[in-house]
Amino acid sequence: MDDRTSNEKSRRNFLKKATRAGAAGIAGALGLNVAAPHVLPEKMVFGPNRSFWARELPPPNAPLEKDLDVDVAIIGGGFTGLSAAYYLRKTEPNRSVAVLEAHRCGNGASARNGAMMLNMTEDRFLQWSGEPELDQRIYALTLDNIQRLQALSAETGIDADIEQNGALQVFNTKSDKEKGTEFIAKIRPYGLPFEYWDQAKVSQAIGTTAYEGALFDPGSGQLHPGKLVALFKRAAQLAGAQIFEGTVIAHVEEGEQLRLTTADGRRVLAKAVILATNAFTSKLNYLRRAVAPFFDYVGITAPLSDAKLAATGWGKRIPFNDSRTEVFYLGQTKDRRIHVGGGLADYEFNKGVEDPSRAETRYQGLRRELRRIYPMLESEPLEVCWSGAVDMSLDQTPSVGQIGKHGNVYYAIGFSGHGVNLTSVFGRILADLVGAKESEWQWLPYLNRLPTYMPNEPFRWLGVQFATEYYRFTESL
Ligand SMILES: Cc1cc2nc3c(=O)[nH]c(=O)nc-3n(C[C@H](O)[C@H](O)[C@H](O)COP(=O)(O)OP(=O)(O)OC[C@H]3O[C@@H](n4cnc5c(N)ncnc54)[C@H](O)[C@@H]3O)c2cc1C
Repeated sequence: MDDRTSNEKSRRNFLKKATRAGAAGIAGALGLNVAAPHVLPEKMVFGPNRSFWARELPPPNAPLEKDLDVDVAIIGGGFTGLSAAYYLRKTEPNRSVAVLEAHRCGNGASARNGAMMLNMTEDRFLQWSGEPELDQRIYALTLDNIQRLQALSAETGIDADIEQNGALQVFNTKSDKEKGTEFIAKIRPYGLPFEYWDQAKVSQAIGTTAYEGALFDPGSGQLHPGKLVALFKRAAQLAGAQIFEGTVIAHVEEGEQLRLTTADGRRVLAKAVILATNAFTSKLNYLRRAVAPFFDYVGITAPLSDAKLAATGWGKRIPFNDSRTEVFYLGQTKDRRIHVGGGLADYEFNKGVEDPSRAETRYQGLRRELRRIYPMLESEPLEVCWSGAVDMSLDQTPSVGQIGKHGNVYYAIGFSGHGVNLTSVFGRILADLVGAKESEWQWLPYLNRLPTYMPNEPFRWLGVQFATEYYRFTESL
């Protein structure tokens, strides 16, 4: 055998081996991706809510103490679950509805957030989507929901501090500012009410020159998240829904009639189930592909004296969020506190439970950002700090729809940090879907369309590490 023949042979052998190794690698990766949720089940842990907003949560109801048979069982007592319960009863008063909440209503993101009451959805919020007529329709839908919240506040007698003073998306860089002005130019012919504000106008409104400019949405605003949970809980109960707290659903068995099992062995039979479980949905082995739980952090000052607040130059209570991927957001409460949230967010390997050892570093980041924006608050401590899980989807799109072998499992997910207003829009849609009125919502691009596929562990964790390092480097966080 001459040298050339033997070289060709070994090259062919190498290619064969490399192809086999590559195929084995892909098969292994696919296998790992499929096996991961079974090999690495998530823990059913729900940490207590220590946020400032939680002080206004209503006292918890008793847990479920005997087996239950209902038309609709809703898992999760946040904005989504409570609003769905309200609308289900309101639209069909004969239907029996029970909300089953693991800890306490408002224990999740609903009473831990940044209090910004925003229009649109995260994937379209002040971004050029190329579908302006659809944007108009979504904007009108979310704007209408704010009116519904105000009406419900009057109906229940719970004032949730809803203020529609508008909201700003402020720009950290000149290039973001250019994108903002381009967006306004494109959107103008379609009559959406967004405005571009230059640095001087931004500074006049919120007192800081830390930003290059901003987009202003006059239809947005803020509210008190804990009080909004109280409002929806009361509305749902007045409408006749039962609410059980301290009741963890450990398992859902599908069938024409679904069988839910609580962590302490009670059984709930239901014709339909709504997963209003947000960032915790994968703990029940549903929709793991759609979202990943990211832990975000918030801190709030004590009430500021009139002089201190005046020194910030932040006059009217207009909340704002910045243009970074790991966004910072700030607001001012009616009792003159300033809250700041966001910055570095954390994803924990397969846990859906945060790592408390990171919290202090993240709170320091919030203090630094507050000082950067308002140097006069240099010595102002954050009186309360907390964290919360955001159900982040890859493309920041939400989704609402119907799944399951028998088509009787409903869900709303993927709010991606943009759910204060949107959740109760989806709560209403869920009630319509359960009532077989989905035809009204066929126009909505989020109906039965899940967000971009996210792989399981360990690929998910690796992807998150890579993406966050990239953003932190490019956006100097
Ligand atoms: C730090 C932070 C800041 C945010 N800031 C803003 C903002 O400024 N503006 C904005 O629009 N959006 C914001 N968001 C997003 C917004 O808060 C959420 O989109 C919204 O609250 C989601 O509501 P939900 O009812 O779907 O979920 P949640 O409020 O998370 O409720 C889910 C509930 O389900 C319960 N649960 C889960 N699994 C089970 C089970 N197996 N059995 C029983 N119960 C279960 C949980 O205990 C929880 O109470 C923020 C979120 C966070 C975390």
